[in-house]
Amino acid sequence: MSAAKTAHQRLLEDRKSLPIYAYREQLLDAIKEHQILVIEGETGSGKTTQIPQYLHEAGYSKQGKIGCTQPRRVAAMSVSARVATEMDVKLGHEVGYSIRFEDCTSDTTVLKYMTDGMLLREFLGEPDLASYSVMMVDEAHERTLSTDILFGLVKDITRFRPDIKLLISSATLDAQKFSDYFDGAPIFRIPGRRFPVDILYTKAPEADYLEAAIVTVLQIHVTQPSGDVLVFFTGQEEIETAEEILKHRTRGLGSKIAEMIICPIYANLPPDMQAKIFEETPEGARKVVLATNIAETSLTIDGIKYVIDPGFCKQKSYSPRTGMESLIVTPISQAAAQQRAGRAGRTSAGKCFRLYTAWSFQNEMDENTIPEIQRTNLGNVVLLLKSLGINDLINFDFMDPPPAETLLRALEQLYALGALNDRGELTKMGRRMAEFPMDPMLSKMLVASDNYKCSEEIVTICAMLSIGNSIFYRPKDKQVHADNARMNFHAGNVGDHIALMKVYDSWKETNYSTQWCYENYIQVRSMKRARDIRDQLEGLLERVEIESSSNPNELDNIRKAITSGFFYHTAKLQKNGSYRTVKNPQTVSIHPSSGLSQVLPRWVVYHELVMTTKEYMRQVIEIKPDWLVEIAPHYYKLKDVEDSGAHKMPKGQGRAGPD
Ligand code: ADP
Ligand code: MG
Repeated sequence: MSAAKTAHQRLLEDRKSLPIYAYREQLLDAIKEHQILVIEGETGSGKTTQIPQYLHEAGYSKQGKIGCTQPRRVAAMSVSARVATEMDVKLGHEVGYSIRFEDCTSDTTVLKYMTDGMLLREFLGEPDLASYSVMMVDEAHERTLSTDILFGLVKDITRFRPDIKLLISSATLDAQKFSDYFDGAPIFRIPGRRFPVDILYTKAPEADYLEAAIVTVLQIHVTQPSGDVLVFFTGQEEIETAEEILKHRTRGLGSKIAEMIICPIYANLPPDMQAKIFEETPEGARKVVLATNIAETSLTIDGIKYVIDPGFCKQKSYSPRTGMESLIVTPISQAAAQQRAGRAGRTSAGKCFRLYTAWSFQNEMDENTIPEIQRTNLGNVVLLLKSLGINDLINFDFMDPPPAETLLRALEQLYALGALNDRGELTKMGRRMAEFPMDPMLSKMLVASDNYKCSEEIVTICAMLSIGNSIFYRPKDKQVHADNARMNFHAGNVGDHIALMKVYDSWKETNYSTQWCYENYIQVRSMKRARDIRDQLEGLLERVEIESSSNPNELDNIRKAITSGFFYHTAKLQKNGSYRTVKNPQTVSIHPSSGLSQVLPRWVVYHELVMTTKEYMRQVIEIKPDWLVEIAPHYYKLKDVEDSGAHKMPKGQGRAGPD
């Protein structure tokens, strides 16, 4: 036989070349000795892929599963796939992953990667995590809401399960804070290999960071020695735009310039395309990875030499005063900027192009990112904790407590939704709602669909809403066709939720035809995902004993079911064409992509707010104001919904000025 190494042998060598490998024995000793260990190591040192394997090799999986949480769906999938390959097993067998709406594990699974949110849900069925021998809360520095809640729950478990091992692992951030929180647990540091990274700032602020990023990519490509490029964007839409522009502008470059391989990576990207970012760059070519925050610490792509950092990310922000949550493009923190720069120096010296000024870095960026728990709606988590029997939320062992006002808001909202009674105890409605791995407003809408005999329709709408904004696509050269196709579903100004339902039902009628999707500018992958989610939601409805019902022509019933969950999100038209939210008034507008953006109904319920150039409502339906009093009597009184504009009062009487 030839001396050529098999692919698997090469992988074994890769494993041994990771910085963590030198510390394998020491690490295992430390884990043996301590119940809780904080592990800190440079991103890419091998924590996520190697530690669970080391534990497995050391025999821990004989006593129970080895779990490893990830804040991001894509990371859980991608890392478990990598580990399965390294172990030479089929993904879903010994190594598996579990993310919302997708369980790729089996009875044989001993290494289980999962999102932090999924582990939280596992507590509902297994409050002591009895089936696990080790739990690794990974990427702890990300401080997602779920991870922060997990901290409290797993800390509690270690007190009555001396046999479970708990690992808290993070990039080079915050380790001391984790140690303090976990009663002084020792910190195990894995020194990274880090090459120098040259940091370059712009001289003046960039007006358009997307354009600036593209120009920088092209400059690097033409003037810099070989090495791959990683660009950070805030989301899928930006990445797709950048990809299109880059493809367009490199078309005319001619054969003297090296080939550019463009790889997007974001949460909704299908797995086969996610894998592409890890493929080795062919000799003479240059890979350009266009990524969201996911590439900041969750995923490591080898061979990156140039990082382009526009300095922004999309962040949730929440105002307990108004009860409004929105996704906002926000400047990143200095800590995040350092992590991003570090991605350029993993395998050799690199360069980081910051598309902001040094002054801005020093003076305009926060030192650290604010933990999500302090800037998000807590409805979901409070419902879950209540279902776990944790009633005293004010005294829950938070690493950083949420604002008291936010907690109160969440309790109030759950009360208004009927999930809690006036003593703050879980109701039957609340118990049913907690079965659904989604926002309480969506769960309420699902459970309420029973009253309006339209569970089939609401399940479809829920599944379609869960897909986000990747259902329709709009190729630059066929925008008019794409828009026409889309508007067909909006015929009769039915509202966006119902248009989504029509998309799904039409697809179903064609027996889930791919051709039909092409003809209607609809992403077939997104539709398939919607179908999967739909199936699972149906299963959950069965579990809470809601019988399937359907009446696709009673649109008002469907709208009422939606309103049952989303009455919080009601807005009323103003004289100037913008909207004002009914409680805690705020000015908002209908998103231009909505089928109702030209119709401007008087009263609307919206699914979510997004902040771009202004505060937009995305996914909107028209409602009648008296439904609010009927559906949410705890929350709306007649005076809230009086339609003063409908019958104009003579001057000097009634309310003055615009309402
Ligand atoms: P850490 O958790 O310390 O940041 P990881 O365990 O994620 O480090 O990464 C270790 C190595 O494994 C990196 O070199 C990375 O490129 C590689 N790796 C991780 N996931 C994949 C994947 N899906 N495909 C190929 N390589 C991967
Ligand atoms: Mg990791």
